[in-house]
Amino acid sequence: METIIQIQHLQKHFGNLKVLNDVDFDIHKGEVVTIIGSSGSGKSTMLRCVNLLERMDGGHVLYHGKDILSGQMDVNEYRSKVGMVFQSFNLFNNLTVLENCMLGQIRVLKKSKEEAKATALKFLDEVGMKEFANKPSTKLSGGQKQRVAIARALCMDPEVLLFDEPTSALDPEMVGDVLDVMKKLANEGLTMVIVTHEMQFAREVSDRVIFMDKGVIAEQGSPEQLFEHPQQERTQQFLSRYQ
Ligand code: ADP
Ligand code: MG
Repeated sequence: METIIQIQHLQKHFGNLKVLNDVDFDIHKGEVVTIIGSSGSGKSTMLRCVNLLERMDGGHVLYHGKDILSGQMDVNEYRSKVGMVFQSFNLFNNLTVLENCMLGQIRVLKKSKEEAKATALKFLDEVGMKEFANKPSTKLSGGQKQRVAIARALCMDPEVLLFDEPTSALDPEMVGDVLDVMKKLANEGLTMVIVTHEMQFAREVSDRVIFMDKGVIAEQGSPEQLFEHPQQERTQQFLSRYQ
C-alpha cells in the first residue's frame, strides 16, 4: 500500500502542557482512518500539525517521503494536497457558495474562472448543494455549510482530506446528511483522516481506528478490534461512555 503521509515522533507542547507526546502513524492511499478520544487528548492539535496550522516542537511529518518542513516543499501546494474540513466550517461569509468553491482554485491552483466554476459545480453536485451555488453562504444551515466546505476542499484535488469533528457543531437532524456525503467519499476511495465522536459511523467507514488519550496513541486497530475487543483499559472506559 502506498504511503502518503508519515507522522514520526510528533511532539507538541503549549507552555508546560505536553499535548502530543511521540505520536507515530502512517496514512496510506485509499485508507479511511478515524481518530477517537476524549476532549483535550490532542486530536485537533495533531491534525493541525499535519496541516501546518500549528508548529510542531519535535518529530517529522513526511509527505511522499519528504519532510514537509525541509523547505523543499511549497506550503500552499502541500496544503492543497492535504485538505482540511473544520468543525466550524470556516466558509468565507462575504462570498456565495460557488465563489467559496472557486477562490482557492483560482488563487492557489491558478485555474481560469471557467475551469474553476466547472469544477466547483461538479463537487457541489456531488455533495447535493449545486442548487445553492448562487446563494450567499450565510444563508445556509450548518449542515449545508459543512457540505459546501467539503465540496470546497474537494475542488483543490486533495490526496488526503483531514476532518476535525465535522458534525460536532451541527443540529442532530443535519448530522446524517454530512455523514452520508463522507461515506460516499469513503466508498469512492478518497483517503480520509476523520476525528469524530460518531462511533457508529466510525465503525462503518473506517479501515483503521485510532484511540488517542493524553497526547499519545493508546490503541489502534480495525473497527472490529477496537470496538469489539479493546485491549487497553482506558479504551474500554472511553467506549463505555457511548454504550
Ligand atoms: P482535542 O481536539 O482532542 O479535544 P486539542 O488538540 O484541541 O484536543 O487540545 C489538546 C490540549 O491542548 C488541551 O488541553 C487544550 O486545552 C490545549 N490547547 C490546544 N490548543 C491550544 C493553544 N492554542 N494554546 C494553549 N493550549 C492549547
Ligand atoms: Mg478537537
